[in-house]
Amino acid sequence: MPDFIVKPSTLKELWKILPSLPAGRRYLAGGTDIVTADNCGAESSECWIDISDIPGLALIKETAGSLFIGSGVKISAIERSAAAARWCPALAAAIPHFASPSLRNMATLGGNAANGSPCADGVCALVAEGAYALLALKGKKRRLLLKDLFLGPKKTALKKDELILGFEIPKRRHAGAYLKLGPRAYFGISKAAVAVSAEIEGGTIKRASVALGSVAPVPLHAARTSAWLVNKKLSAETIAGASEIVKAETSPITDARSEGEYRREMCGVLLERALKSLAA
Ligand SMILES: Cc1cc2nc3c(=O)[nH]c(=O)nc-3n(C[C@H](O)[C@H](O)[C@H](O)COP(=O)(O)OP(=O)(O)OC[C@H]3O[C@@H](n4cnc5c(N)ncnc54)[C@H](O)[C@@H]3O)c2cc1C
Repeated sequence: MPDFIVKPSTLKELWKILPSLPAGRRYLAGGTDIVTADNCGAESSECWIDISDIPGLALIKETAGSLFIGSGVKISAIERSAAAARWCPALAAAIPHFASPSLRNMATLGGNAANGSPCADGVCALVAEGAYALLALKGKKRRLLLKDLFLGPKKTALKKDELILGFEIPKRRHAGAYLKLGPRAYFGISKAAVAVSAEIEGGTIKRASVALGSVAPVPLHAARTSAWLVNKKLSAETIAGASEIVKAETSPITDARSEGEYRREMCGVLLERALKSLAA
């Protein structure tokens, strides 16, 4: 455990107290990753900054052109959100695959992203949704495509003390799917996961975005597969073609959870099933 925990109640207070805190400090949101790391001896911060009281971080808000999901929004709150179901169907489809109901009551979307895991389910779905990450550091804000936040396993483009405020998802009417292969049907870290967001008109794919989990060093936007799908009929032939192309975009590792080649093959299978579900 750290030596102490501070809990600012506003962003202004956070930026004010930062200089007085020890250099070994990290944010604490739901704690499901950081406390687990601490229990395993893999976390040695002197201070945790509990951000759960900061107003605005736990909001889901619609504007004319986008949906904002705050970084402090619990996974279970997304599950209950009609706006998320409407504008982020791939994210909504990912939620039942995310850990267990009790864990979803604690875990936040911001923690899922900041943790930088290639198998983060919420992140993989948001990458397929074309989400942006909204970041802040001492009053300075920036916005970047979420897919560009990830640099490698557990490595993100976040600067020291930079806070994820939330995620902005462009509002467009589209269909979405999320399929995950784990050790069990539910409650497990994925061996491979596929998220799809697509606009389909009269059986033709007008826009497609495919993201992959657990098959690359980062949650991966499958750019070639996504581009290849555009302007094609959502036919058996297209689905078979996409499921071949997607395999070439993966660079999976073999570890205790799965063999690399199996992950690659299953990406093709999961994409095939996901696209078929959109065609149904
Ligand atoms: C038993 C178990 C099962 C799990 N199953 C899954 C699963 O199925 N799918 C899945 O994707 N994940 C799973 N996880 C991982 C974890 O629950 C998620 O990654 C969760 O979303 C982390 O959110 P949190 O709020 O708990 O983050 P925390 O543990 O509080 O923080 C995680 C990291 O993010 C940083 N951080 C948090 N919020 C911010 C912010 N706003 N800005 C900047 N940095 C921030 C913290 O400093 C820390 O480094 C599981 C974890 C456990 C223990």
